[in-house]
Amino acid sequence: MTQKPVLISGAGLASLLLARSLLRSHIAFQVFERDASIKFRGQGYRLRLSSEGLDAIESVLDPEAFQRFYDRCGKTGGSGFAGFDAVTGELLEENKMGENLGSREGKIVGIARGDMRSLFMEGCEEYVHFNKHVKGYELTDDGIRAIFADGTKSVEGSLLVGGDGSKSSVAKQVSGGRLKVYDTGARGIHGQAPTTAFKGLGEGVFRLVDDTKLEGRLSLITNVRPNDMDDPNVEFGWTLAGVPGVIKAPNDDYTIIGKTAAEIAKSLTAPWLPRFKPLFDNMVESEAAFWKITCSTPSGVPDWPNEPRATLIGDAVHSMTPAGGIGANTAVRDSALLGRLLHEAGGNKDGVTAAYEREMRVYASEAVAHSYAMASKQMKVHIDESSQAV
Ligand SMILES: Cc1cc2nc3c(=O)[nH]c(=O)nc-3n(C[C@H](O)[C@H](O)[C@H](O)COP(=O)(O)OP(=O)(O)OC[C@H]3O[C@@H](n4cnc5c(N)ncnc54)[C@H](O)[C@@H]3O)c2cc1C
Repeated sequence: MTQKPVLISGAGLASLLLARSLLRSHIAFQVFERDASIKFRGQGYRLRLSSEGLDAIESVLDPEAFQRFYDRCGKTGGSGFAGFDAVTGELLEENKMGENLGSREGKIVGIARGDMRSLFMEGCEEYVHFNKHVKGYELTDDGIRAIFADGTKSVEGSLLVGGDGSKSSVAKQVSGGRLKVYDTGARGIHGQAPTTAFKGLGEGVFRLVDDTKLEGRLSLITNVRPNDMDDPNVEFGWTLAGVPGVIKAPNDDYTIIGKTAAEIAKSLTAPWLPRFKPLFDNMVESEAAFWKITCSTPSGVPDWPNEPRATLIGDAVHSMTPAGGIGANTAVRDSALLGRLLHEAGGNKDGVTAAYEREMRVYASEAVAHSYAMASKQMKVHIDESSQAV
């Protein structure tokens, strides 16, 4: 490993899968993560993996590692949502839309974000540095350095990949401010409860909707996996999402976690049927968290003049609303594509980031547009691209 390393900002899903790809290709890399450790903040929510997402992960990991990954995933029977009116218990009309969520063997495949990160990080540990808050970068004569919030700089790298999520400062710098993120106005609360709280639901992926609120729809999504049902060490998660105006955090502060968020979830769902109430009554209050639902420019990933030594992956370049459940699935495609191009070129050579961005822009723009279209329908969000981004 004599080449200057590939520098990666953020140790999220996309970054760690890229790191894994570089490890396999014997290309040197260093990852810089803002948090103090991989378990620093609640990692609770589960991700549903699409066929594209699973294929991308399989193309990066060696066969044994992929099998370990796949074995850790939960597989739920049925191929779509079972939707209920949370107040009356009636089966929803939209169940008949037949939305297919299955990806392999007809099963819905999902995994906790925290497990996914740990599995991707295997073998990369010594190259992942915590407490490193990347604020931007500087180009050197023939390389690049990441600049940290404390004013220090990284070693010189051949490439900096911004995988530091939707608030990425690398994204702002490399795109010259063209990459924007908008507040949709929709809000969510994420919560967790012991598996026993979900017994009344049955097995599968459930959507519960409440149309009794003045401001509009409140809905919940959760995935009840039969194999984990009797494990007392397992908690299942749920995500409550409200159209703009339904979920409001005190003082508009959506960074609040714990009891305050838990109590708002309980009060919003007070009229729900007893069958669904244990999800809230038994929730682990400390794990509750608000979620401000943001989205990248719906018309697609914008163009910017390519910088051969800096590029972006994951939410840093295409953040999406939860509608469609394709944010992480698109992020892992980036890692697989960029990792493959770097492997083929034997490291960062002229044209690699340009080729990556050309291809990524196409599928990522489609994904953002798809998720936004679904969010417009389901969450009544509307983004005016001429308005102020967040
Ligand atoms: C409740 C919820 C449910 C979801 N469900 C699904 C689903 O079912 N399917 C799906 O495909 N997607 C889903 N998503 C979206 C998915 O989680 C994201 O698209 C995915 O995590 C993006 O991965 P990423 O690596 O780009 O960013 P992240 O995984 O967010 O990682 C970014 C990393 O960068 C670090 N970081 C941030 N700033 C800095 C900095 N300045 N310096 C250094 N490090 C920094 C962060 O601490 C973090 O570790 C869901 C999201 C939420 C919130």
